[in-house]
Amino acid sequence: MLYPQEFDVIVVGGGHAGTEAALAAARMGCATLLLTHNIETLGQMSCNPSIGGIGKGHLVKEVDALGGAMAIATDEGGIQFRILNGSKGPAVRATRAQADRVLYKAAIRRRLENQPNLWLFQQAVDDLMVEGDRVVGAVTQVGIRFRARTVVLTAGTFLDGKIHVGLNNYSAGRAGDPPAVSLSARLKELRLPQGRLKTGTPPRLDGRTIDWSQCTEQPGDLDPVPVFSFMGNAAMHPRQVPCWITHTNERTHEIIRSGFDRSPMFTGKIEGVGPRYCPSVEDKINRFADKDSHQIFLEPEGLTTHEVYPNGISTSLPFDIQYALVRSMKGLENAHILRPGYAIEYDYFDPRSLKSSFETKQIAGLFFAGQINGTTGYEEAAAQGLFAGINAALQCRGEAPWLPSRDQAYLGVLVDDLVTQGVTEPYRMFTSRAEFRLQLREDNADMRLTEAGRRLGLVDDARWDAFSRKRDAVSRETERLKSTWVNPRVLPAEEGERVLGKAIEHEHNLFDLLRRPGVSYAALTGMNGGAYASDAVSRETLGDLAEPVIEQVEIAAKYSGYIDRQKAEVERAANFEHLRLPADIDYLQVTSLSFEARQKLAKHRPETLGQAARISGITPASISLLLIHLKKGG
Ligand code: FAD
Repeated sequence: MLYPQEFDVIVVGGGHAGTEAALAAARMGCATLLLTHNIETLGQMSCNPSIGGIGKGHLVKEVDALGGAMAIATDEGGIQFRILNGSKGPAVRATRAQADRVLYKAAIRRRLENQPNLWLFQQAVDDLMVEGDRVVGAVTQVGIRFRARTVVLTAGTFLDGKIHVGLNNYSAGRAGDPPAVSLSARLKELRLPQGRLKTGTPPRLDGRTIDWSQCTEQPGDLDPVPVFSFMGNAAMHPRQVPCWITHTNERTHEIIRSGFDRSPMFTGKIEGVGPRYCPSVEDKINRFADKDSHQIFLEPEGLTTHEVYPNGISTSLPFDIQYALVRSMKGLENAHILRPGYAIEYDYFDPRSLKSSFETKQIAGLFFAGQINGTTGYEEAAAQGLFAGINAALQCRGEAPWLPSRDQAYLGVLVDDLVTQGVTEPYRMFTSRAEFRLQLREDNADMRLTEAGRRLGLVDDARWDAFSRKRDAVSRETERLKSTWVNPRVLPAEEGERVLGKAIEHEHNLFDLLRRPGVSYAALTGMNGGAYASDAVSRETLGDLAEPVIEQVEIAAKYSGYIDRQKAEVERAANFEHLRLPADIDYLQVTSLSFEARQKLAKHRPETLGQAARISGITPASISLLLIHLKKGG
């Protein structure tokens, strides 16, 4: 049957990528259909119930700044919040939350169900409708044909998914869910370049069988409890609970080693490459043989369940080994396993076959986002979903894609890394991937992206009003500090020494003084009984905005030197960054380049010189030679 309504955007898959993609396209006014296996699993966390962390938290804040759902759903479902790297510089500080799975899913579903322009439909998609080189819709398991102008595919770990526990394996999308076999076959038929990756998850434990007195308590940050969303507040959080820590020991490691001969990883049953930064416990014991203990976090899965996630023992070893290894640890001697750990192998598609907008190069109107692009992680998936949803909507409107740059957002780094470099293992975000990380901070994600989000139609009035108030207050307060001058004649030397470290010899404005190491906003504005602070905006007049505004002003002042230097570097690089390369250039004929460089450029076909520079193996020297070739009109 052909469904009577035609959509602008069909999103296939209701995981973290799919839900953000569908919400974004619908917010931008497109008639959007979210087709997914099961409405009950919308926003399901396949693995650990936690959101954020270093690099990942930055992505969540960016998704939030563009009006996305992940951060606010975490505020509604988070049962433990922490600021990681709290004592380090603001660029690497990151928010992490433990979520109640049920509350998180409910928060996502509520947003989906209440989003105008968005329709939900439960069915597996088995086929894509393609006319010429353009996708025109999707066909479900029972033959319902939905037509659309664009399709965003976010099938996660489901494409030809295969679960391994020891030497046993079976087809599945993840434990308890069916695989997408027909769709995988169809994509292979369309000759989209594809490969296999794998990921894994630990066995889950029944908290009633854990001896908590043998474990170390790890409380969250409680004073204050961190908040993820710009529109969130701590009053939204449910009850907060601690996590706990135990350790593996020599005996655990012996048990694990005794299962190596039945490990699907070590016996070659699994071909897909796993995430290097999130290894299985057997991989850790194998690779770091000299370590005699690893820390294991026992994380509650929710407030209404006893289920516990033992973070650090992801494994695909046989169940008898899983059982013994769990029980070898302190506090877990009698632990009951509720669900076995497993590894899953799945198809991913080479992201170098995507345009910078995430539209596939081969099939117009077809976009890919999330784990299907070779990434791992909810946050990476959500950011990509939002991005693909935006660009599918822009295509429907007949507008050019939105492409955030690497100095604007981690999202820009993520997209650019994927489409230019591809992946050799599941890709996750790190702050070290961003060359401009001093300016890509969690605390300024709103300042970097909300205006773009508003222009795109993603940001509603409530967020826009709140953002505009903050932005204007920051700019007023910065101006005030810059135009308030402190004269050595009126600042007693002892007060200068107390607040500034040494007395001033000539006039300075407050902003310059704030740049000095060890000089805080609070000390400055309290200086001389507040004489310099009282003439314009002050903490009192900033009201509820005081904390975020002061934070921004203080970071801007402290970092201004570094940020200016970095900006100069960005500008220098940008001269070349956006230079577009001719689509028809025959790299193999650019004989001034090394053979390796010619081959790599011919293979990746970068769209800009900036992208070319980031292809591994393309040296700055190759870039200069390519520039000379282009200048000569080659
Ligand atoms: P998913 O969350 O997988 O969602 C895909 C959605 O698409 C599902 O709703 C599914 O039902 C639907 N779908 C698929 N095919 C079809 C179809 N044909 N028709 C209709 N609907 C379809 N990440 C980490 O960061 N660290 C980890 O340690 C980690 N371990 C993991 C372990 C396991 C076992 C699994 C399964 C995942 C793990 N992940 C881990 C990855 C994390 O779960 C994913 O990165 C994230 O969920 C990807 O989001 P996504 O939206 O791309 O896909």
